[in-house]
Amino acid sequence: SDNLAFTVVVLGASGDLAKKKTFPALFTLFDKGFLPKDLAIIGYARSALDINDLRKKIKGFLKSKDEAKKDEFVQHITYVQGAYDKSEAFENLQHTLEEREQKSQGGPAGRLYYLALPPSVYPQVCKGLKEGASQLPDIEGSWLRIIIEKPFGMDLESSEDLAEDLNKLFPEEQLYRIDHYLGKELMQNMLVMRFANRFISPCWNNQHIANVQIVFKEPFGTEGRGGYFDEFGIIRDVMQNHLLQVLALVAMEKPVSLGADDIRDEKVKVLRCISPVKGEDSILGQYVSNGKDPGYLDDETTPKGSKTPTFAAVKLHIRNDRWEGVPFILKAGKALNERKVEIRLQMRPTVANLWHEEDPNALRNELVMRIQPDEAIYYKLAIKKPGLEYNPVMSELDLSYKSRFKETYIPDAYERLILDAIRGDQEHFVRRDELRAAWAIFTPLLHAIDDGKLEPVEYKHGSRGPPEADELIRDAGFVRNESYVWGDSPRR
Ligand code: NAP
Ligand code: NAP
Repeated sequence: SDNLAFTVVVLGASGDLAKKKTFPALFTLFDKGFLPKDLAIIGYARSALDINDLRKKIKGFLKSKDEAKKDEFVQHITYVQGAYDKSEAFENLQHTLEEREQKSQGGPAGRLYYLALPPSVYPQVCKGLKEGASQLPDIEGSWLRIIIEKPFGMDLESSEDLAEDLNKLFPEEQLYRIDHYLGKELMQNMLVMRFANRFISPCWNNQHIANVQIVFKEPFGTEGRGGYFDEFGIIRDVMQNHLLQVLALVAMEKPVSLGADDIRDEKVKVLRCISPVKGEDSILGQYVSNGKDPGYLDDETTPKGSKTPTFAAVKLHIRNDRWEGVPFILKAGKALNERKVEIRLQMRPTVANLWHEEDPNALRNELVMRIQPDEAIYYKLAIKKPGLEYNPVMSELDLSYKSRFKETYIPDAYERLILDAIRGDQEHFVRRDELRAAWAIFTPLLHAIDDGKLEPVEYKHGSRGPPEADELIRDAGFVRNESYVWGDSPRR
């Protein structure tokens, strides 16, 4: 609506996420003209903050050379100090909002509550909001939505408890659970690529695809945040949420429509086809010093003797007609040799390979989608080696976003997701039943780790991870083609 009085309330405005992600994303949307004209941004937290200090601090995190625009943006920000557990505090917030909404031009009000807070306070804050600050003006088109951040629980039971607490107060339609991977460009591209291309969609099944890898690699360790990380471990931090969301988009059936619930129905369905991960289908790792860079246990904030995995590779089976027999490998680790997140689909070998009778695996095709850094989609395929010889060689069809879309701004995940929430589009937010299905896959494994029944193997800081993971992947049928070279680099 053109005359929407739009207010975003950032609860936990004093915190890390707010300054690093929430305010900068709001600024970009503002800068590019995507926020409603009648805009107010209210920071809310317990700390006694001076508004000018807060504006100055926020301004320091905004990525732009346009000083005037940044100043204009921070002028929209005000601050309300208040507790998370006191009804008076929320009534005060409601009062501030009412005053602001009354000043608008008689249009509907849109309130976006952004919970940039530790999840432990979500239930009390949602209760406070429901009881004290959910009264909207009686104008058609008014709305209230709540964005919440991971972690959504520690296992199936605690996640369900949290969801139950929140759903008692607000229905699913008002809850926007952020998994920021769903805001990434290549994830948003997945349905288009899969379902709008005749070349791709008929091959997207066990007839043609042999194995799938979804990989997250980070080149640094915990660096003083071991205490925080240790409560979660790599599976809760990256795999159960982000990588499983990626998997759902890769593996889901075609939705009936592009409606948010039609899409999420298919994601839930495919997740429910996956049995819980077994210990024998997983490799856990923990990084140790390589002599130069510290090991996980060398981080002073890491609890002594911790067995928390900083690396995991697991093999999943999707029990449906499309994917029967295709192993899906999820792999994630810290302190590895490089930074990347990618999806790799390896195709089956061709029948009766004319050029490599002795090694039918020699020309295996792979489709790689690199989600970060430098978005790219490339298909590794065999061509005749250019020149007078007549031998096949592995090359690629390459779509590198940087060179193909030079002038295009690729938004940050948070920018896109906040905009979706303002528009009321829940497609890229995690529904409760999706979350439940995702936790069901990992909870038994996580409990076995928590109970000390599974221990990580060591790998060196800066390595590719434990060799045992390569074995798991090889046993799952992945065949690495060492002859493939990228660009003009010399052959290995
Ligand atoms: P944070 O800085 O630790 O906390 C945000 C604010 O919440 C603090 O400034 C503090 O504000 C209040 N707070 C902190 N501990 C509290 C407690 N025990 N009880 C009540 N209030 C408390 O957290 P954050 O890093 O911004 O993260 C916020 C949420 O986003 C969390 O759910 C986190 O898991 C998630 N998240 C964060 C990141 C990130 O990059 N930081 C990334 C992904 C997800 P006052 O004391 O002023 O009230
Ligand atoms: P790659 O880096 O050669 O890796 C291929 C697969 O083999 C990965 O699953 C990798 O696992 C695994 N692997 C790597 N070293 C291994 C080892 N020693 N033992 C067992 N497994 C190993 O990737 P690629 O797709 O063939 O591409 C080669 C290079 O070309 C990459 O640097 C890629 O970025 C570049 N390239 C770029 C573009 C583009 O930017 N548009 C297009 C094509 C190719 P890990 O990932 O876990 O190491």
